[in-house]
Order: sequence, then C-alpha cells, then structure tokens
Amino acid sequence: ASEFPQSDLLLSTIFEYMGKMSTETDIAKMLLLLADLGTKLVQADRCTVWLHDSPSQTVWTVAGHGVERITIADTSGFVGHSIQTGSLINVYDAYLDKRFNTAVDRETGYRTRSILCMPFTNQEGKIIGAFQAINKLDDTHFTKDDETLLTFASTYAGKSLDAFILHKELLETQKEIIETMGEIGESRSQETGNHVKRVALYSYKLAQLAGVSESQALQLRYASPMHDIGKVATPDSILLKPGKLTPEEFEEMKLHTVIGYNVFRKSERELLKTAATIAYEHHERWQGGGYPRGLEGEEIHIFGRITAVADVFDALGSDRVYKKAWPIEKIVSYLSDQRGRQFDPRLIDLFLDHLDEFVAIRDSYTDRM
Ligand code: C2E
Ligand code: FE
Repeated sequence: ASEFPQSDLLLSTIFEYMGKMSTETDIAKMLLLLADLGTKLVQADRCTVWLHDSPSQTVWTVAGHGVERITIADTSGFVGHSIQTGSLINVYDAYLDKRFNTAVDRETGYRTRSILCMPFTNQEGKIIGAFQAINKLDDTHFTKDDETLLTFASTYAGKSLDAFILHKELLETQKEIIETMGEIGESRSQETGNHVKRVALYSYKLAQLAGVSESQALQLRYASPMHDIGKVATPDSILLKPGKLTPEEFEEMKLHTVIGYNVFRKSERELLKTAATIAYEHHERWQGGGYPRGLEGEEIHIFGRITAVADVFDALGSDRVYKKAWPIEKIVSYLSDQRGRQFDPRLIDLFLDHLDEFVAIRDSYTDRM
C-alpha cells in the first residue's frame, strides 16, 4: 500500500500527463501541461512553472494558451527566493511573509493565501526554474505529502524542460553556424551578412508558394544561405574585381558551385546534402546553358530553381563591386524577360504575383545602416 491517499488516481494522473508531454514540441504548451499536472497533484487552485533566464536575470512563464509571456526579475517574490537560494518554500499565509510581493494580488484582484514553491535543476544540477503552487483547495495549507508530490513534479519538469532547452540550443547553434558559413562566403566579396539572410527568406517564401511541404521549405531556408560558400576558394583578384570578368576569370568564378557541392556532398546530414544540391544547381538555367552541368527544366532540383530566382533578385537589387543596384522596375522586367529562359516560369509567376511580399522582406534587411 502507498503512503498517499487515492494513489491510483495519482498514478493515472501522472501517466496521463506524461503521455501528453512526451509528444509536446512547444515549450509554452509544455509549461502549461506541467502546471496542470502540479495543480492536480497537490490540489492547488493554480500552479505556475517558471523558467530562469540567467543572462537577463529574469524568470518567465506563460499564463495560458496563446497568451504572452510574463517576465519578472529573478530576485522577486517567492519564485525569485527559491531560485536564488535553491530552497523549498511552504508558507501558510503569504501576507505574513515579507518575501511576498503583494503587488501581484493588487493588480489581479486575486487573494493569495498558501504557497508552495520549489526550484528544479537540469542534469548538471544547475537551477533552471521553479514550480509554484498557490492556494491549497480546501483552504488549509500544503502538507508534507504535497511537498513530496511537488518534488516529483519538479524533478520531472527539470528533466523534460532541460531536454527542450538543449534541443533548442542545438537548433540555434546549427542555424548560427550555417549563417556564419554563408557570411564567410559573402564577406570576402564585401557583401553584408544580410544578403544570405534575405536569400534564405525569399527561398523559404517562394518554396511555400510553390507548394513545397513545410519541412522541405524549412530545409531550403536553412541551407540556402550556404549557396555561395564555394566562393571562399575564389581569388580576391576575381571576387573583388571592380570591372567585368574576362572569360578565363569567369570560368574560375564558376567553380564556386562545384567547390560548394564538394564541401557538403559527403555529409550524412539531410540539411548539408540539401546545401550541396543548392550550391551545385543555383546557376543552372531553365532552358539550359547554365553552369556547371548545363541541366534543363525539371532536371534542376526545385531547390536549385528556387534559389536561382532568390539569388538573382537579391543580386540585381544590391550594389556589387562590379555594378550598381538596379531599380525595382528594371528587376521586374528582367525577371519577366527571363521567365522560361533563365528561370522556371511557374516560379516567376508566383514571385511576381507576390512581389510586394518579397520587397517587404528586402526592406526589412537592408544593407545600409
Ligand atoms: P553575384 O554578384 O551574387 O550574382 C549572382 C547572379 O545574379 C549572377 O550570376 C547573375 O545571374 C545575376 N546578376 C548579378 N548582377 C547582374 C547584372 O548586372 N546583370 C545580369 N543580367 N545579371 C546579374 P553569375 O552571372 O553566374 O555570376 C556569379 C558570380 O560571379 C556573381 O555573384 C559575382 O560574384 C561574380 N561575377 C559575375 N559577373 C561579374 C563581373 O562582371 N565582375 C565581377 N567582379 N564579378 C562578377
Ligand atoms: Fe553563386
């Protein structure tokens, strides 16, 4: 027999929530699920799960679905105290405790009485947040059993939220490395990092318009910044030449596609394989005659065709060492003229139908400033 009353009910509640949480991918929803679980376990009127953000010295949470984040100083109230000291707090009447921040009740009209607050840690034992239960339902206070139950919930919260934070950290790191690599390709040709960001966003948008699945569109978005990475091997004398390239120089410039392809093609990672394809095919032409292979039509991967439009739209609208930026009318007439020649006609139609949206992206990542 268990020491807890109604232990079957507890167990089924725990299993119910573990099931829901195991498939959750949104951290805000995860916080709400954990809070719900906490409320049921200790029979509180409400429960909040706070996450610590050390760089900004704040803790944050969400109050409900689709609601904005609530952020407070990481030294404020019981939550702040719990996080700073790493200790459990069980108060019977908040108003008799000087750590209580009465401003919250005054603002919300809520009447806080009992509070149970407990920090939780990640795998390395670092405090990453706190669980807070407010007002025991039967108007008494939280018991030793409640402390044990909230400890269980906190341990679980620490483990699952840590995995979330790590996963997000990994994704962010991956994105940053990709953008940085793209910028290395660009920086030598004096272009700002914004070129690669714009190309990523144009490609993503155009992929969505073309009916590419969301996961594929995201692949394209994260891989397209690396389309010109092969330019790291192009000599400065060519890359930075203020005037027109000689035929020999242009032959050498063309190699950036093959070099980029060779950098990534051996990777087992889906994203880097995508990057290889894009580097290889972004200078192919719909009617043939592009480089390096002279593919035609749908022989060119959709990612290559999309990035071609995005890259040229951006190149034409930007200053280069060898040319001035073109006005938008001239760009539009060039794209229309090359519809079905340099570019996939269907993509040009979609692009021009949504031109204002592409221009809006351009205007939010300008090179001047
Ligand atoms: P980029 O400057 O990023 O340009 C990418 C693509 O945008 C070009 O691929 C081309 O399709 C289009 N584009 C850019 N500027 C113009 C333009 O003034 N007129 C037209 N019609 N299209 C333009 P492309 O031509 O294969 O060139 C690949 C890369 O080779 C360029 O990347 C640039 O780094 C270099 N490059 C091309 N032409 C010259 C040049 O005359 N002088 C120098 N220094 N570099 C050049
Ligand atoms: Fe290129």
